[in-house]
Order: sequence, then C-alpha cells, then structure tokens
Amino acid sequence: MNYDIIVIGAGITGLSSAYHLKKRNPDAKILVVDKAGTYSQGNTAKSAAAFRDFFSLRENQIMAQASIAFYKNLQDKQGIDIGMKFCGYLFLFDHEKDEKFVSKYPNSRIITEDLSSIFNVNIDSETRKIMNIDSIKTAILDSNAGIIEPDLLSKYFFDQITSMGVDVRFNTHVKRLGLEPDVSLDYPGEPFNWQKSSIKYIETDREKIYGDFFILCTDVWTTALLDPVGIDSHLRPKKRMIFQVTSPGIREIINKNIFNDSGVFPFTIFPTGVYARPYPSAGAFWTSLADDINRDFSFTEHPEPEPEFYSYNIKPIFDAYFPAFQNSKITSSWAGYYSYNTIDFMPYIFNALNMVIVSGTTGGGIMKGDSIGRIVAARYKNEAYTTLYNGEKIENTYDGYYRTTKIEDMIL
Ligand SMILES: Cc1cc2nc3c(=O)[nH]c(=O)nc-3n(C[C@H](O)[C@H](O)[C@H](O)COP(=O)(O)OP(=O)(O)OC[C@H]3O[C@@H](n4cnc5c(N)ncnc54)[C@H](O)[C@@H]3O)c2cc1C
Repeated sequence: MNYDIIVIGAGITGLSSAYHLKKRNPDAKILVVDKAGTYSQGNTAKSAAAFRDFFSLRENQIMAQASIAFYKNLQDKQGIDIGMKFCGYLFLFDHEKDEKFVSKYPNSRIITEDLSSIFNVNIDSETRKIMNIDSIKTAILDSNAGIIEPDLLSKYFFDQITSMGVDVRFNTHVKRLGLEPDVSLDYPGEPFNWQKSSIKYIETDREKIYGDFFILCTDVWTTALLDPVGIDSHLRPKKRMIFQVTSPGIREIINKNIFNDSGVFPFTIFPTGVYARPYPSAGAFWTSLADDINRDFSFTEHPEPEPEFYSYNIKPIFDAYFPAFQNSKITSSWAGYYSYNTIDFMPYIFNALNMVIVSGTTGGGIMKGDSIGRIVAARYKNEAYTTLYNGEKIENTYDGYYRTTKIEDMIL
C-alpha cells in the first residue's frame, strides 16, 4: 500500500500535524508511525506540561497564543478536559525591570503586591556574594499562562485522527529514509547528483512502507534519520531534568489563589532560571532549570536525572528564596531532552525534498503544538502563509518561515 502522507512520530507535534493534515486533506491516505507502544511517550511525556505566551519574539508569542486559544476552546467550549489551569507564570527578578520591558510581553504586568509573606524577598549579603543573586527587585505575572495535561491533549488529537480514518502503527521503528531517484537506471550508488530524487519509503524494523510525502516529527531523534541523507536537522539535544518535590509548606500553599482564581499556585521562575511548576494533585512542585554552559550536547536513549544537579543547582535557590521548601524531599524525578534550535530558539519547520521537518521546538512544543500542526499542513500544500487558530498569520518560506536575527530571551 502507498500512503499519500506518512507522519513519523506520534508525540504532540506528530499528532497535531496528522490532525491538521487530515482535516485539510480529507481524502488523503495518512499513516502515523511511532517506535513506542503508544502515542506521546517521547519528550511530550517528559515535559513540565506548562504553557505561556511570555516570549520575546513575536513568532513565538503568536504560535503560543494561538495554540493556547485553541486548547482553551477545547476545554471551555467543547467540554474536553485537558487539565488546563490558568494559574499564571510569575517571574521573579533580582534586578529592576521597567514598564517598557513588560510592554513587550502580552498579558503581563508588574506585580506591586507585597510578596514577602511567600518569598524571601531580601537576600543576605553572604548569599549575595557566594551565589551571585540578589534580593527580588521585580515580579512580573503573565496571566495567559498555566499548566496543562499533555496526555489528555494527546488523547484528544489521537481520538480525532483515528476517527477521521488516519492509520496508526505503533512499535514501528523507522531505521532509514528510502532516498531513491525518481527515474532509476538500476546503477549501484544511485541517486547520483544529477538525478532528481526523493524519499520513496521508510524502512522500518518490520517492513518498507511507501509514501508520496513524509512529515518528520521525531524531535531529538530527527538527526539520526536526516544525517544519512545529507540534510541538516538544525537541532541540538540538551538533557533536561525534572524533580518532583514536596514538603509541609508546599502542601499548604499549592492550592492557594495568587493573582487569579485557578486554585493553583503560579508557575514561578526564580533568579538564575530555576522554576517551580505546581503539581497540585500530589501536593508538590516539579522543579527544574534549563542550564546552558557546562551542560554538554551528548545524547542517550534513556537519560537519567542527576540528584546532585538538584542538590547543587536547584535546591540552593529555593533555600534562598522560597521558605515553603523547608524540609522538602524529592518524591520522583525523570529526564528528557530539549530539541534546541540554537540559532534563535524558535521552532524550525522546513521543507526538504518531499518532506516537512519539525525541528528545534526548544522546550515549547506542547504550548505551540496546535500552531505547529497548522504550519505543517500549510507547508504540505506549499502555501505562502499559515493562518493560525486565532487568525494570526505566519509566513512560510522554503527554509523555515521568515526568521528574525534576534534571539528568543525567554527560554526556561
Ligand atoms: C524536562 C522537559 C520540560 C519541558 N517542558 C515543557 C513545557 O512546560 N511546555 C512545553 O510546551 N514544552 C515543554 N517541553 C518540550 C516539549 O516536551 C517538546 O517540545 C515536545 O514534547 C516535542 O513534541 P514532539 O512530538 O516533537 O516530540 P516527542 O514527544 O519526543 O515525540 C517524538 C516521537 O517520535 C518517535 N520517534 C523518534 N524517532 C523515531 C523513529 N526513528 N521511528 C519511529 N518513531 C520515532 C518517538 O518515539 C516519539 O514518540 C519540555 C521538555 C522537557 C524534556
């Protein structure tokens, strides 16, 4: 059997892509394959499961805003529970930020309320000197932000695509992209440089599956598929870990309404980038830090969390700023990878041969997931623009939509 479109990868970007492709091409025969036993077992399952529109680059802002609006509509209007809670993102800075800075970020405001009953806003001189941190000088709240359950969101997309007639094969590992000349001369070593060639099939651990067009939604595994055919994935993996932490103090505050009525403490980002993501059902926070210098780009299939990373890089920040963490303990931990686009930290979605490749989601593939699927569907049709759920438009050019030379500042 020959498929019109084969989507490799059934994480959030593969599911969203299959959904929008099928909606826009109802007669197309579409197959989704994944090496795992079910959907969203890759980095979608490892994420901090949070969303925000607090991005410095407009493209990131609108991809997130449009996806958040789509998800909100699912939950509020269609009654599909995807665990969305608008608890907000609370950024704590140890330096001054003014209104001009905040005005770049939609739905955000400087907090003037007194936070000293929750956080240590004043850091002693010893800590200041040793850790290069200072007292909290500015707090900014993004209210179009919060937490979500990616497994429920994935289930929505999965149920939709299967009910629309998309075929899905799990436990199907793509080993190789079958690059062949369009007109074969049956010479060894084809395709030659002067031959027109394209991907004709995927070679899996079970069989060859033939298709006309291919979508790669394989996150940090994309490089392994593209390198042999000489196409750059434009991504670099970096290990990211999450430590679930609880304490009597955390259990006391986790359901507090702070600046909103979601019944959940805000996702809070401390100086140095350490963050605490509320996980109310366990009376805990998921804590993490997207470290940069001294975190190598090595990649293993099953990354392990490093308890000493928590002890030396994360915990000291809570000791300094967050009294609720007193007598806290780690109750769970895991590790995955960010697939970094190291140029500007925006998702990189591009066409190559008869493929669209979703790459470099840079820690935001869930919160931008619906928009990414729409971009893939528009690129499949070679459209100049993608219209997102909220009506915003993103330009598609051959090598990724129009890119700014500015760098996204707000990678967490
Ligand atoms: C610790 C951590 C925290 C994060 N926090 C957030 C957050 O708060 N909010 C947010 O929006 N994003 C967050 N992210 C990023 C987010 O998880 C990713 O951007 C998103 O999950 C990417 O989705 P995906 O579908 O592209 O990749 P994945 O979910 O990794 O899916 C890729 C799929 O491809 C399959 N696959 C790979 N290679 C092959 C092959 N050769 N053959 C067959 N199948 C294959 C895999 O099995 C997998 O199912 C976080 C990531 C991590 C690691």
